[in-house]
Amino acid sequence: MRKVRFCLRGRVWQGQSAAVTGRAEMVATDSPAAFDAAVARAAATLREDGLVVLPTETVYGLAGNACSSEAVEQIFTVKGRPTGNPVIAHVDGLAMARECVAAWPEAAARLARAFWPGPLTLVLLRSEVIADEVTAGGKTVAVRWPSHPLMRAVISACGFPLAAPSANRSGQLSPTCAEHAAAQLGEAVEVIVDGGQANVGIESTVVDVTGPKAQVLRPGMISAEVLAAALPGVAVVAAGATEGVLRSPGMLERHYAPTARLLVRRWRDEEDLEAQVAVFRAAAAYTFVIAHTNIPPGTRWGGVSVIPRDAEAYARALYAELHRCDAEGAELIVVEAVPEGDEWAGVADRLARAGA
Ligand code: AMP
Ligand code: MG
Repeated sequence: MRKVRFCLRGRVWQGQSAAVTGRAEMVATDSPAAFDAAVARAAATLREDGLVVLPTETVYGLAGNACSSEAVEQIFTVKGRPTGNPVIAHVDGLAMARECVAAWPEAAARLARAFWPGPLTLVLLRSEVIADEVTAGGKTVAVRWPSHPLMRAVISACGFPLAAPSANRSGQLSPTCAEHAAAQLGEAVEVIVDGGQANVGIESTVVDVTGPKAQVLRPGMISAEVLAAALPGVAVVAAGATEGVLRSPGMLERHYAPTARLLVRRWRDEEDLEAQVAVFRAAAAYTFVIAHTNIPPGTRWGGVSVIPRDAEAYARALYAELHRCDAEGAELIVVEAVPEGDEWAGVADRLARAGA
């Protein structure tokens, strides 16, 4: 039977009800009282140097006190993250952002004014309050003011910035809902706060504002064109063009990847798709297709997902589709190449790295 799924999802952040998965308790946020209790619970754990999985608008984060080496070391251990890969410090408000940094250049002020709170991370010279593990021993720190209401409330209740890399094992797919995080880290953390589906769906745009010219180190849903409207002259660092220096460590490696092998392809019709896939010798029943325009009509695939041909809706749905293919036992995932264009740069970047 033909299996086609439509994966358009709602935009609105909604509270979710509680459940228990593995060791972790899933904490609900589906009423004002539950929201307040979740904030208090998370903040109490974080004040004790514990870790909590928290929702953000980009992806779910594994959060710990960014001023505590003990807490940040635990994040690296739980994720199995290489210590040379720095993490982002999440703040609530400009005052907290400025405490994390030694200098606040005009470029930072402009970008913050235009895009914060939101899915934009600024790389700046670090201050002393940030734990060395956050910066991977470097002179710079990446800072973001997220917009998710639960994340904001927790940071503000804590009164300190939170290191919060994606709540997955290093190199794996980022979680865009609480269940994804529970599947990967449910045995390793005590608390997962369920804040609904992540509204942006891929990781933040990272911009380095330490130099004379701002540089996009990692593309995201705030595109270079949109950044340039607030800060003319912002440049994009092409992957591999960093002269051997990994300016933003997530940049070059295979990253953001499902367990299954992932291919990005264009095809004329199903016959063409079949011919392109044949060389990989994956059983048809374990080959999954994710398409936005050329939807294969045949019955031979393990599954066919229809994903919106709209960059924002696509980004919101992408990781959930990849998680689902993995959960259904996919060996091969064939993703239809996305259109050209600045608004697709973040999605194209993640697909390229997932397929590397
Ligand atoms: P994640 O928290 O997993 O989304 O990854 C954070 C990413 O932000 C890293 O992989 C880097 O690409 C980037 N990043 C974090 N801190 C810095 C920094 N100090 N300098 C440059 N890039 C950074
Ligand atoms: Mg990550």
